[in-house]
Amino acid sequence: MTMNADSSRFDLVIRGAKVVSERVLGEHDVAVQDGKIAEIAGRIDADARQVIDAHGLHVLPGVIDVHVHFNDPGRAHWEGWTTGSAAAAVGGTTTVAEMPLNASPPTLDGASFDAKVTAASGASFVDFALWGGLTPVNLGDMAELAARGVIGFKAFMCNSGIEDFLAADDATLREGMLRAAELGLPVAVHAEDEAITSRLTTEARAAGERSIRAYLASRPPEAELTAIARAIELAAETGCELYVVHISTPEGVGLVRDAASRGIAVRAETCPHYLLFADDDLVLHGAALKCSPPLRPLPTQEALGEMVRGGLVDVLASDHSPSPPEMKAHEGFFAIWGGIAGCQSLLPASLSAIEGASGEADVSLAAELLAHNPARLLQQPGKGRIRIGMDADLVLVDLREEFTVAQDDLRYRHSISPYVGFPLRGRPVQTFLRGVTIARAGNVVGRPQGRLITPARGSGIAD
Ligand code: ZN
Repeated sequence: MTMNADSSRFDLVIRGAKVVSERVLGEHDVAVQDGKIAEIAGRIDADARQVIDAHGLHVLPGVIDVHVHFNDPGRAHWEGWTTGSAAAAVGGTTTVAEMPLNASPPTLDGASFDAKVTAASGASFVDFALWGGLTPVNLGDMAELAARGVIGFKAFMCNSGIEDFLAADDATLREGMLRAAELGLPVAVHAEDEAITSRLTTEARAAGERSIRAYLASRPPEAELTAIARAIELAAETGCELYVVHISTPEGVGLVRDAASRGIAVRAETCPHYLLFADDDLVLHGAALKCSPPLRPLPTQEALGEMVRGGLVDVLASDHSPSPPEMKAHEGFFAIWGGIAGCQSLLPASLSAIEGASGEADVSLAAELLAHNPARLLQQPGKGRIRIGMDADLVLVDLREEFTVAQDDLRYRHSISPYVGFPLRGRPVQTFLRGVTIARAGNVVGRPQGRLITPARGSGIAD
């Protein structure tokens, strides 16, 4: 540990918060020096340049949201790095991993990677990692993307809804997985079967269907399960590490757990919106809750929540995917942009979902699913835990507080979110990136200083 030149021993001491990491420690002091956690003890008496009294609060590792779409460069009018990262920071997130599609150009080669880093640098309040794309037209560019520092490759097993990001057929996915395995990086899949979803969608639209119920029927659980099973087969065959994003059914998680028990390297992500909302909520509220795979019936929602609370899901992420309001306004529900804006609410929404019927959130499970496991996925051994020597990415949370997000509280470019007015437990109070306050009481602080983070390859498996 480097020592300070002046008389203050630490840059920052956070006093008296309950420390949440592998388990919950009683009230402790946490000291920060040079952006890293320097000491954790019942009482730290040494001088510090800044002292924060956090009695009554919990301190968690900063949230690592591995699934956001900020759409910048090219579609910053949908979100953009500044507003997207500000919302994330206010919500307790200190690192995001941004998806390769919905920006223009999509992140399919070295030049588009560089363009995205340029857009994010000096604009992002939080550290950022980038996913590269895995599509039929850029297999030859995967090595270049890996050399630039992508944290993995994202493939769509069905139509992505974006023209310049093509679905990966089985041959493409197999070849991409072989290359990713060689490069030591995971492949993330949007798992819905193209044959099923395109047939049902074409039939529904040909019959003149435009309703929300018709949209729901066009993306059944079978589409998800068929695709997950095939992705697992390909991962087993190629030795590629597989990450299944936004699983919407307990059966889907079951497929992942079953494969993992057979020694296949596969992990499961879901999002709080699948745990807090059901198909009836979509019918009631419409566009703000449209996503794919879609929200499921209440019993499915509850069973998925049980699996999360039982530790069977690896990662909770927001899949923050906003659009301008006009793309959310259309008479036919099939034509409306699918994507939920939720990165600002990821932490409290996850705490609320984990709380379940018991009325008490398992905060160390939340830290596992929102920080530690994401750090392992992104191969960031220096992030994701409150431990001496790790980055001082921290969030102070008031778990006593039940609150609702007002439209004015949203820091997104467009203040549309299904979480507006929804009661959540656990308000993020203050967020620190490498020991520096980046958000306090619902607003960002200071200038954006997020950095690109790249994988320490080979560290993903180690604890
Ligand atoms: Zn997504």
